[in-house]
Amino acid sequence: MADLQNEFSWSKSRHEKFAGCRRAYFDTYYGSWGGWEAAHGSDVRELYVLKKLSSRWQWAGSVVHASLKQLLSAARATGTFWSLEKLLERTRARARAEWATSREKSYWREASRIVGLVEHEYGEPVPDADWKRLYEETIEGGLRRFWASQTFEEIRRTPRDRWLTVDELDSWIFEGSKIWVAIDFAYRDADGRVQVLDWKTGRERGVDHVQVGIYALYAQRKWGVPPDGVVGGLVYLAGEGDAAERVSVAADPTALEACQATMRGSIAEMRAALVDPARNVARLEAFPMVEDREVCRRCPFRRPCGRL
Ligand code: SF4
Repeated sequence: MADLQNEFSWSKSRHEKFAGCRRAYFDTYYGSWGGWEAAHGSDVRELYVLKKLSSRWQWAGSVVHASLKQLLSAARATGTFWSLEKLLERTRARARAEWATSREKSYWREASRIVGLVEHEYGEPVPDADWKRLYEETIEGGLRRFWASQTFEEIRRTPRDRWLTVDELDSWIFEGSKIWVAIDFAYRDADGRVQVLDWKTGRERGVDHVQVGIYALYAQRKWGVPPDGVVGGLVYLAGEGDAAERVSVAADPTALEACQATMRGSIAEMRAALVDPARNVARLEAFPMVEDREVCRRCPFRRPCGRL
């Protein structure tokens, strides 16, 4: 097998990491590179394991995403939807197993496969009642609200030959840079428009135009739809009501232009920080630690940074 190259690519999460702390960005995309085969106990191995850790809220969101992916992928393959009970039962079993192996810090053996939580790594005291609430409100509550939603009803009504993707990782090229996307669910509606849906497990309500713009630009290329033929849908699974709410966002030309300007600026800034942009080589010194220590409180890299 040819050697893997640390090729430059861009994603919205990379953009956010770059904006949050340059050192965390370096550790995630450069310092940890090759850590999967580095010796146990080495610095690169440590950074690789740490970068894979999630906070408990990120973990809860990923459990919900994984469950919905399983539910919809199984329905796509077989034409039959699981019952709600089966969905909840499988989710509970997986969440329990992931939590238990994380508590044992098993991720140090194989971080690419075994889930790890920042709270377990750093021994943060989280009361049992908080874990319980996280499970009941975010994970199980989110799935129940999805189940009761108009969005799920529409998905059930849409013939499977109009389903376009179920949370598959893909990429496209924007002005020479690879852009990663994973759309939670996309389908072609009865009017021929492409609906791209994103599951939201947080409570924020601010519409993320960059995210919707990236999806729309990808959808245009991937499925050959005109600029006004894509509709973004943010589906909020958290909240008080019984059913998830959907907020639709049109990807109009102004929004797409703004999105491309953000991507262009972000890519240029990231490349400018490299010592050799053509070969994607970075040096630690160009990526300082953030000044505001408040940012470090939940960071997985706080031990190597000396900010415990
Ligand atoms: S601990 Fe603080 S300085 Fe270090 S990578 Fe994390 S956020 Fe940045």
